[in-house]
Amino acid sequence: MNEYDSDKMRDVLQASHCMEMTTIPEEADVLLLNTCSIREKAQEKVFSAIGRWRKIKNKRPEVIIGVGGCVASQEGAAIQKRAPYVDIVFGPQTLHRLPELLNQARETKQRIVDISFPEIEKFDALPEPRAEGPKAFVSIMEGCSKYCTFCVVPYTRGEEISRPLNDIIAEISILAEQGVREVNLLGQNVNAYQGDMGDGELAEFSVLLHYVAAVDGIDRIRFTTSHPAEYSDDIIEAFAEIPELVNHLHLPVQSGNNNILAKMKRGYTRSEYLDIMNKMKTIRPGISLSSDFIIGFPGETEKEFEDTLALIEEVGFDFSYSFIYSARPGTPAAEIEDNVSEEIKKQRLNKLKTRLNEMTMAISNSMVDTVQTVLVEGVSKKNPLQMTGRTENNRVVNFTAHPRLAGQFVDVMITEALPNSLRARIIESSVDKILQ
Ligand code: SAH
Repeated sequence: MNEYDSDKMRDVLQASHCMEMTTIPEEADVLLLNTCSIREKAQEKVFSAIGRWRKIKNKRPEVIIGVGGCVASQEGAAIQKRAPYVDIVFGPQTLHRLPELLNQARETKQRIVDISFPEIEKFDALPEPRAEGPKAFVSIMEGCSKYCTFCVVPYTRGEEISRPLNDIIAEISILAEQGVREVNLLGQNVNAYQGDMGDGELAEFSVLLHYVAAVDGIDRIRFTTSHPAEYSDDIIEAFAEIPELVNHLHLPVQSGNNNILAKMKRGYTRSEYLDIMNKMKTIRPGISLSSDFIIGFPGETEKEFEDTLALIEEVGFDFSYSFIYSARPGTPAAEIEDNVSEEIKKQRLNKLKTRLNEMTMAISNSMVDTVQTVLVEGVSKKNPLQMTGRTENNRVVNFTAHPRLAGQFVDVMITEALPNSLRARIIESSVDKILQ
C-alpha cells in the first residue's frame, strides 16, 4: 500500500509541477518521506532519515521537505516540533493535495499540516494511472473498521471506505490497454469491499472480482490484504468460478490460539480459520497459502504460542510474515501489561520463522521438474542475459529467453530451487506463437 501511495505522490507532482523523480536527494527540489507506523521500528527510522536531509536544506533553503504516511497521520504537528525544518506534514488520505500544499509552503514559508480524512476525494483527484510493466497495483478500498486491539491502522488511515466499482474497472481497463496482465487489488481489508455500482446497489468483493476478471487482457488477479472475519463463502466460491484468480491466498491469522485471538479482537476462532483454509484447499488443490503472525502478544503463554506452531503444521504455509508484537500508542493492547520478555519473544519468533522457512523451501523444492506458468516481467537485474518473472505462487523465476517475451505469459520447467528464487528452462513450444 505504501509503495502504491509513493507512486501516486510522484504522479500528482509530475502532473501538477512537471516534476521528475530522482533517487539522489542532493538533486531534489522536494524531498518526500513516506512513512509506516505499523510497528515501532519503522516509526523510529523517520527521524534518522529526515535528519540526513537537514544538511541539504541548510545549503539550499528553498528545498521543501515533506513527511507523509501513517507516522505523519499519527504524529501531526509533533513531527515539526521535533524537526522544525519539515515544511509539510500530510497523511495517507491527503497525498493528492500535495500540489496545493507545496504551493502554500513555497508562498507562505509557513509549516503546513494536513492529515485529515477527506474520504473518497483522493481517488477522484489522482491522475490517470500509467502502467510500468505487466503488473499493477490498484487500490479498491482504504482504511479499516475492525479495530483489532494491536493495530494502529484505523487511527492512521481511517475507517473502511470503498471506491465505486466503475472507477476501479475503468482504471483497470486503462492499465490493461497499456499492457498490464496482472492486477493486485489493494486495501487494508479488501474483503470488506462495498462498492457503489452506480445504480444505488453495493457490490461485494466477490462481485468486484467477477468484473475485474472480465476486463480484456487481465489474466491474473491477486489481492492484498484480506481478513478472515469477512472471508465469506462467496469469496471462496469465486476461486471456483474465476480462473484468473491466482492459486495463492494470503490470509493473516496472527495467532493459532483462541484466547489470544479473542484478546486481539480478531472476530474468528482457530477452527473458523482452519475451516476457510480447508475449503480453499478443496476448491483449489495445491493452492499456496500464506499468512502473517504476531509473536508475543501481551500475556502470550508458551502453550498459546505452541498452538500457533501447531496451526502452522496443520495448514502447511508458504512464504509468510512474522513479527514480534509492538505496542502502538492509542491502541487498546498497549494498555495490557506486557509480561513476555524480549528474550522469550525472540526465541519464539526464531522457532516460528525456522519452521516457516523450512515449509517454504519444501514447497520450492517440490516445484523442481514441474511446469509453471510465468508472467515475464523483464530482463533480470542480476544477469542481463536472463529474463525474470513470477509464478502463480509469487516466486521469482530466472531463465534464458528472448527479451521480447517481457509482458507475456510463458511456460517454464523449474530446474533448481534457491532460497529466494527459482531457476528454469523455457518451454519453447509455449513461446513460438508469441515470437512469430
Ligand atoms: N489487514 C490485515 C493486516 C495488515 S497489517 C489483517 O488485519 O490481518 C500487516 C501485518 O502487520 C499484520 O497482519 C500483523 O501481522 C502485523 N502487525 C500489525 N500491527 C502490529 C503490531 N502492533 N505489532 C506487530 N505486528 C503488527
